Parts: sequence; C-alpha cells; structure tokens
Amino acid sequence: MQNTAMVAKRNLDCFLYGLSGERLPADNHYDNLKEARKWGFKIPDYFVRCTTLDEVYAYIRLWDQKRKELDFNIDGIVIKVDNLSIQSKLGFTAKSPRWAIAYKFPAEQAETQLISVDFQVGRTGTVTPVANLQPVLLGGTTVKRASLHNSDQIRILDIHQHDWVIIEKGGEIIPKIVGVNVQKRHPMTLPVEFATHCPECGTLLQKDEGEARHYCPNIRNCPPQIKGRITHFVSRKAMDIEGLGEETIELLYQKNLIRDVADLYQLRKEDLVDLERQGEKSVENLLSALEASKNVPYERVLFGLGIRHVGETVAKKLVKAFPKLEDLIHAGKDQLISVDEVGDKIADSILAYFSDPEHLELVKRLQKSGLKFETKTKVLSPDSQPLTGYTFVISGTFESVSRQELKELIESLGASAASSVTSRTNYVLAGKNMGPGKRKKAESLGIPIISLEEFYQMF
Ligand SMILES: [Zn+2]
Repeated sequence: MQNTAMVAKRNLDCFLYGLSGERLPADNHYDNLKEARKWGFKIPDYFVRCTTLDEVYAYIRLWDQKRKELDFNIDGIVIKVDNLSIQSKLGFTAKSPRWAIAYKFPAEQAETQLISVDFQVGRTGTVTPVANLQPVLLGGTTVKRASLHNSDQIRILDIHQHDWVIIEKGGEIIPKIVGVNVQKRHPMTLPVEFATHCPECGTLLQKDEGEARHYCPNIRNCPPQIKGRITHFVSRKAMDIEGLGEETIELLYQKNLIRDVADLYQLRKEDLVDLERQGEKSVENLLSALEASKNVPYERVLFGLGIRHVGETVAKKLVKAFPKLEDLIHAGKDQLISVDEVGDKIADSILAYFSDPEHLELVKRLQKSGLKFETKTKVLSPDSQPLTGYTFVISGTFESVSRQELKELIESLGASAASSVTSRTNYVLAGKNMGPGKRKKAESLGIPIISLEEFYQMF
C-alpha cells in the first residue's frame, strides 16, 4: 500500500522464521531460532524439531485440527532440513531451496446456493461462466462469486439453476465450484445452459473442436476484447504505462478516442483535458508516460501485442531467435518451432496473427510512433570480453538476477563459471545465503569473495 497511514492502522507485526548470516550461534536451524528468541526477536511458538518422518506426519495431523483454534489463517506447514551444512549441500533451485518444502492442508469447502450464472468476455474473446452465489463464509472471507471455468465443467458438474453447490478456495483469487448437493435440488429446475451469444456484442459464440473454451469471434468490435487488449498492452509487464487504468481506458473508449493500441500514441493534450476527472497534471503525466514507453524493449512490446499463447517467457525466447520484428513476421513454421518453448500451438498462433493484414497495419503504425521492434544483438569482440581467462564460482541467490542469467553473463564476458571452489577459482561471486562450505573453502584458499555490485564494477 502506498498510503502509510493505512498501513499504520493494520497493526502489523514481524515474526522471524530463520537466521541468516555468517558465524551463526548454532549449526542447525532449530537452535538458531531459539537463540534469536533469547535476543528478543519474536519467534512463532509453533516450531518443533522432528527426528523421524512419522513425527513430521503426526505434527501435520495435529495442526490440521488445531489450526481452527488459531486467531489467524494458515494454509500449511513448512518442513525444513535442520542441519545447516546439509542445507548448504542441498542448495537451491532457480526458485526455491531444496531443503524446505510446504505441506498444504486440503482446501476449505463451503456449501451455498447458486443465484445465477454470468458470462464474462476476456481480452482474447474467451467466455468464462461465473456463478453468483448466496454469500457464504469461506476461509475467513465472504464469497459471492465462483468460477465455473467452461462448458465442460458445467456439464461434468451437471449443475442446475438454484442448485446447492460446494465451493472451494484453491490458489486462485476467486473460488471454484467443485460439486453439487443433488439431494437439495428442487425437482423442477433446469440445467444451466452455456450462453449461445456474446453477452457484450451479441455475436454467435464459437467453440473449436477438441477445445473446452467458447469464444466470441468478433475480435474487431467486441468492446471487452478491444479494451482488454489495450489494458494488457499498458500493463506493468508489457509497456508499463502509468496513469492508464481501466477507468481511463473505458472513458477514452467511450469518447471514441481509442480503438486499438496504436491510437494511444495519437492522443493529444486537448483530447485528454476534455475528459472527466482529468486534471492538467495527470494529462501531462500520461503523455510523458506514453512517450517514455517508446523505450520499452522489444520483448515487452511483443508481449504487449497480446498474441494468443505468447506470454512473457515465450516473447523473450522469440526476440532472442528473431531480433527484428521483420524476421518474426517472415518466419515459417519450422523456424518458429525450432525456438525453445515454442510448439505447434504457439507457432500457429503467431502465423495466424501476422497473416492478418490489420495486425501488420497496427504494427506499422506502432513502428511509426517510435516503439522498439528490434533488439541490438551483442557482437562480442575480444575487447568486449574483459574477463577472458577468469574463473568464477557463483554461490547463494540474487534478488535482481537468476543464477542462470549470471552464468550466461559471466560467459559472455569471456570468463568461465565453475560449480566448486578450487585453487583455480579467481573470484567467488556471493549472493544471499551463500553456502558455508564454499565460503570456508574460499577463505582457506585466499580467494576473494565479491558481491554482485563489485562484480559489475569489474567491467
Ligand atoms: Zn463479443
């Protein structure tokens, strides 16, 4: 939250769940936590040391019951390897430690009555059924809506109007309906039918063979699809244009000022000041945010176009393989599927997108506005490989960069990245939670341990 006064009202507290650092008081997690408590830190009362898996299971069973008595919600239990030297041997994957794992309790369920079903249209035209429910308490919040996913799900559940349904909260934001209490069903009710026409533009819905989703084929003129594409384009992971929330997009759409993302770059100051609730200052901010977005790298522009199945990661891989948009437009299917993570489905989607003359026109207009549609490929000469001959060992984790990316960087600079510290190691590049074994070895061999900042300064 940006409003600190609001944050202050929340009575936040801080509990320590681990000690991290050099020269820790003990060689195990459990004793370190106890020590930290002696120092005055708040440590949860609930951690125990188990010596067998049976004890771990017993503890899980215990809390699956007792968690209902807690005055806060928990969704599981974390099990950690206690011995720190074993922890360091196990190390980390790109995302998480190998010495800790979360056991998740089964999701809580509740029963309530179905009021009605809405059909929502997303930016790609996919129509999603959403159930309106009699409000019910589930996992500490009141639930009024739940997802029904698609027509297959409705058919499998055989859900009827005004049925009593069982809902469950998974990892998603909105809960889902997982079952129907048929015994409570009124004998006269009819099954829920999937919409036949788009609720937004009235177009007959389509469904492809072998696919569960219904979609509105009216890509050009279906309002939520138009607005959805623009919202996606300006979102943080794409063009990151601040000041263009959904409400502003709605206003601009209603005033006929935008019909596609290229229109954004044609907006003039006088168009915007006329809009309701737009002060001069915020108009200027928006225009400068649009201007600044012209420097957004090509991979994010490509992601922002919203080509079906082309997410952030795929966009990155495509840009690596085709550093210029022209190359991607002219790529054949074989070339496309030779790209890492690109299969039939994605390749077909890309081919379909660029075979549409309107899309080519859109891209041309964006190019004219100055958006980036290519990336400079780095041609490395010996001069640009200042670390040739050096050997680095990476240890620990880094906030801004993955270990794999660091490894690639080191190699692109001419150095090599080794996995263990030996007398041939020149530097150990250390992040958070550096392995104590590596540290000891480096120290005993007198090998400098450097931070990421120090590494960047080297070249
Ligand atoms: Zn529609």
